[in-house]
Order: sequence, then structure tokens, then C-alpha cells
Amino acid sequence: MIKRTETGVKITLVVVSALCASLMAQTPSAGTAGSEKTYERLPGLDKRLILPTADPCVDFFQYACGNFSKLYPIPNDRSVFGTGAMVADYTEHALHAMLEKAAGSGSGRTPNEQKIGDAYAACMDLNAINHEGLKPLQQEIDRIAGLKSKDELPEILAHYQLIGVNAFLSFGQHQDFKDARKVIAVVDQGGLGLPERDYYLRTGEAPEKTRTQYVQHVANMLKLMGEPEAKATSDAQAIMQLETSLAKVSMDVTSQRDPKNVYHLMPVSEFASLVPGVAWDRFLAGSGAPPVTELNVTNPEFFRGLNTLIAATDMATIKTYLRWQLLTSTPSYVLPRAFDDEYFDFYGRKLRGQPEQRARWKRCVRATDAGLGEAIGQVYVAQEFAPANKRATLQMVQDIEAAMDQDIDTLDWMSPATKVRAKEKLHAVADKIGYPDHWRDYSKLTIARDDAFGNALRATEFENRRQLAKVGKPVDRGEWLISPATVDAYYNPSMNDINFPAGILQPPLYDSRASDAENYGHIGGIVGHELTHGFDDQGRQFDGNGNLEDWWTAEDGKKFEEKADCEVKEYGNFVAVDDVKVNGKLTLGENTADNGGLRLAYLAFLADAKRKGIDLTKKQDGYTPAQQFFLGHGQNWCGSTRPEQLRLQAQTDPHSPRQFRVNGVVQNMTEFGQAFGCKTGQAMMPAKACRVW
Ligand SMILES: [Zn+2]
Repeated sequence: MIKRTETGVKITLVVVSALCASLMAQTPSAGTAGSEKTYERLPGLDKRLILPTADPCVDFFQYACGNFSKLYPIPNDRSVFGTGAMVADYTEHALHAMLEKAAGSGSGRTPNEQKIGDAYAACMDLNAINHEGLKPLQQEIDRIAGLKSKDELPEILAHYQLIGVNAFLSFGQHQDFKDARKVIAVVDQGGLGLPERDYYLRTGEAPEKTRTQYVQHVANMLKLMGEPEAKATSDAQAIMQLETSLAKVSMDVTSQRDPKNVYHLMPVSEFASLVPGVAWDRFLAGSGAPPVTELNVTNPEFFRGLNTLIAATDMATIKTYLRWQLLTSTPSYVLPRAFDDEYFDFYGRKLRGQPEQRARWKRCVRATDAGLGEAIGQVYVAQEFAPANKRATLQMVQDIEAAMDQDIDTLDWMSPATKVRAKEKLHAVADKIGYPDHWRDYSKLTIARDDAFGNALRATEFENRRQLAKVGKPVDRGEWLISPATVDAYYNPSMNDINFPAGILQPPLYDSRASDAENYGHIGGIVGHELTHGFDDQGRQFDGNGNLEDWWTAEDGKKFEEKADCEVKEYGNFVAVDDVKVNGKLTLGENTADNGGLRLAYLAFLADAKRKGIDLTKKQDGYTPAQQFFLGHGQNWCGSTRPEQLRLQAQTDPHSPRQFRVNGVVQNMTEFGQAFGCKTGQAMMPAKACRVW
């Protein structure tokens, strides 16, 4: 639902589908060690990555990428590494040079250069951060200590929301699912320190070990805050107990994917009667949102449970929990080294299997991009993004949309009535490429060179206030949810738009020197992926205007679900790691987008080749154009993932592990088997394949 970024800024992710969020999901944490190596740019098709002894018809991922991990083992400062991470690494170095330059004091800097330069310089000044200790947090700590009764909770919880502390709940905004022209307030479940509700409830050795480690981590953090050992230990247990109670009334990640499950628009008075123990009128007055009369209560069950929980918990425990939430929600890079190290030890080392913290400059580059993304983005786009890339990408997007238009005509299972509505939706998709038309204004945000903590806090509050100010105002359809330098892409069903920032439009994902076949396999598949999200199990529930409205005939809807169920079963049989299988339902939307997206890219590639008169049977550099296309797609996902990270991914991330994003798709495409001369019955060419789109 509402997720916090590295800086504590909430971005509403209700139903936004990102291409490969796992690429960027590095926990912010401690230390200064780590790889300083810059990777070379990979070409569109890199033969060095291919493992010639593998059989493409048996395991295409192994064939396309079998040599990748020998050439590029996972660096110690990462839990996952692959093609996408190499692109992100390249961008990180480019941003680093820009920030070092902007950080150079001296006159003549533009207001944006001052902000990004000083934010970066302050973040890098670990000595000053260590010297400050917990002083910057003291005012907040004192405020908790001074709380006398539960009657004082509304104001402090509202204040916490603004500074990025999601104690007990999460408050934000999003477009009304049923009327996309409106922005409404939303109140969501929240308040957990572990990644997801089932982390508190799952049985078995590994989940129990994680819980033990988490309680120890909480105790360690409280000790660093100055609590004596015995008190830190008992407080950590009380926090675990309270969070477990919250988890029990929370919704799991899979259920949250269905927009109907998380949409309960109600008058504020009705919400207030769900949780009579908290004065919501006072919470809303302090929240920073304009006055509201109605809001989306995503999970009413949760709030009923929250009411019971607050009533049953003594004030001392609530204060302990608030202190913990404050501490763990503060970005660890602005806390003294010992806190940062302890934070990394649990969230990085134990939860993700990452041996070493990332170099501080890398974390400061990320943090600056997270807080000032469109300020740094303007410099990035001017330096790194060629206008020709934008034109070429737009052409490809339009080709792929045309391919989908034609493909809809050929579907034998869909009625003419639903086809008309599907095309209406397709034609209404907005294509956004590179960067926003209007840049965000940061002039009212104060960034000081000697105040890393204050900068992070102010940037979070600035962004949260900007978000909340949208409530009740017309929707800005030009807005982007990710920064221009981000190596990712997304579809947003409420906007009905597809978004490809400049960061993803670079080699090898898009390479102006690569063959058309390679580019269609790489970025073409990604474009098709985002477009297909508009028609996956979530996206298909929204119409072309972005409204949650069923435009399918009952029979077509049933046929869609049967087809989707084939993919649920197919992916649900893949083993992610050890005893953990891929969750076929959690990953359904992404798998549908992967499958549909590559098919659309292939159709567009064929149409393009026909236009240009390219002979599809003629090998170039050892491969036919069709083989190049599939190798391009396969090499999007080269890389490897540490087992701890794989477990986390399988249990929380809607994206399938990398090898299944390759093999799961090609085994559903007879065009792949034909391109590589596979025989029916081989793993990549099963007799029975799944196809949704
Ligand atoms: Zn996706």
C-alpha cells in the first residue's frame, strides 16, 4: 500500500506495478567498506555471458547468462547483482561525479545545485554525524517521555506521519479508485518492523530464527539509546508482542494486491466509530492534509483490531513502542555509526545476506536522489540523456501499442464487446518517457551543509506535505512517481500511464548501437511488460479513465481467470530457495506482464523487420534475429541473488526470481522453441503452455 522510501518519504504504491523494484531495494545501512569498482557497459547482446555448453532448450537462463556470475560475482556490498544492478551502478557513478561537483563550495551554484551539493556533503560528513550523537532526536524522545495519557496520541501520531514514522498506521493520499479525477486521503495498516505480517506468524526454523534475531536487534538498538541491558531486553519483547498483535489483524501481501480488498471509502465519522479510542478529528487536524470528510480505510479489520490493542496496552508499553518506531524509522545514515552498523547487521546482513555495508558515497548518492530526485534529475538528464533516445523509445512504445491493438483482434477467447473496451483502454494509455515536462519546485525546502539529520527530516516532511496537499485538488497527470535517474519503470492504473525514466533507457537495456532485434528483446520487452500491466489481474479491473470499474463481460472475465490460473500454477511450482516456492498468486501480475510483454515486443519486432525487409533466417554474428531477440530478453535478467535475499523476495516481492522471468516466459512461447529448434517435450517447449495475453 503506502511504502516508505529510504528517506522515510511515503509514496503511494497502492497498485503501481514496477518493473524490477528488487534492483533498487538495497537497505540503507552502515559502514564505509565496499566495492569501488566501476563496471563496463555491456552491449545489447554479450556473447561472453553465454554458456555454450548449456542447452537453450533445457534451461535458457543458464544458456543466456551462465557465464555472468563467473565474470561478475556478487560484490560483497550487495545481496543481489545482475544486468540491472550494473546499469544502476553506472548511474550511481555518474550521479556521484555530479554531486561531488555540486558539493564544491564556491559561488555560482544554482539553487538546485546548492541543495543537492549540500545535502550530499552533509550526508558524507560522518564525523559531524557521530559528534552530534542522538542530540537531534532528543526533542522527539523528550516528547514521548512527556506523554501522560492515551488521549495525547492523535497529535503525536499525526506528527509522526509527517516525519516518516509509521507507528501503528500509515496515512497518505491516492487517487480515488472509483473516481480517478479525485485525490482522497487514505489510512492504511502499518507499524511493523519486520518486512511483512507473515514474518510474525509463519512457523518453522527459519522464520523463528529471524524473529529471535529481530528481538535481539531491537534490544541492541535500545541499549545504544542508553537503556540498561535488562530493560532493553524486556522492552524488546514487549515491542515484539505489540507488533505481533498488529500483524495478526494486518492483511498479507497477496491479499493486498486486489484493489477491491483495500478500498473502503467511508465518511470520517464512520472511521472514527471503528476506532473510538483515538480522536481522529484531532489526528486529521494535525496531519497536514486539507480538511476531509471521507477517506479510504484500506483495511477496516485492522483498525478494529488497533482500537482493541490500544485499549489493552498500558501507556508505558505504548511509549516504548513509539520510541522504537521513532528510532527505527529515522534513516540510519544520519545516526551515529554504532546505530547505523546495528541497523545494517539486521536488515542488511541477516535479512538479505549482504556481507558488507555499501560505501558511504553510494548511500549518500541514493539518499540525495531519494530526497531531491527531480533537482538532481535535471542535471542528470541534461548530461546523460540524448534526445534521440527519447524519440527512439517513443517510436518503440507506439509500435508495441500497435502490436497490442492488432493482437486483441486475434484473441479467440474474448468477445467483441470486451475487445472494444480493451481497445478503448489501450488507446487511452499515456506514454511518459525520460523525465517530467514540469520539474518539481524545491525552493521552500531548506538544505544545510552541516545538518544531515535536519536535511533528511525536512526533506521527508516537505515531500509528505506536498503529497497531502493534493487531497481535494485536481490530479496532476504529468507527475512522476520515480526520479529520472531511476533504473526502473512502472504502470499506474489510476493514471493509466506507462513511465520509463531516463535511467532505464541506457545500455544494454536500450542501446542505439545494438541491433533492432536486441533492443526489442531488451527494452521492448520492458515496454510490453508495463503496457500489459494495464491488463493483468489488477490492471484489468481499472478502465481507460483509471476507474475501478468492471468493463468485462462475465464470461470473458471468467475465461481470463482460467488463463491466469494456468500461470499461478506454473510459477507456483518453481522453487525460489530451499523449501520456499514462488508464490504464484503474489507474482501473478508481474508474470502476466512478463509473458504478455515479451509476446508484444516480439510481434512489434516482426512488424519492424518486415517493414525493413530483414531476412529473419539469416544469421548475423552467429545468431538469427529471432535468437538475438530472445537472448536480449534473457540477458536483461543475468545475475545472481544471495539465498537470504531470495527468501525475502519470494515472501514479499511480487516479482519472480530472475531465472523464472526468463524461463517461465520462453517456455510459454512456441516462437522461442522454433527460434532455437527445440523439440516438444523439452523443458523450454512443453506440450502445454500458459497464455493470458
Ligand atoms: Zn511489473
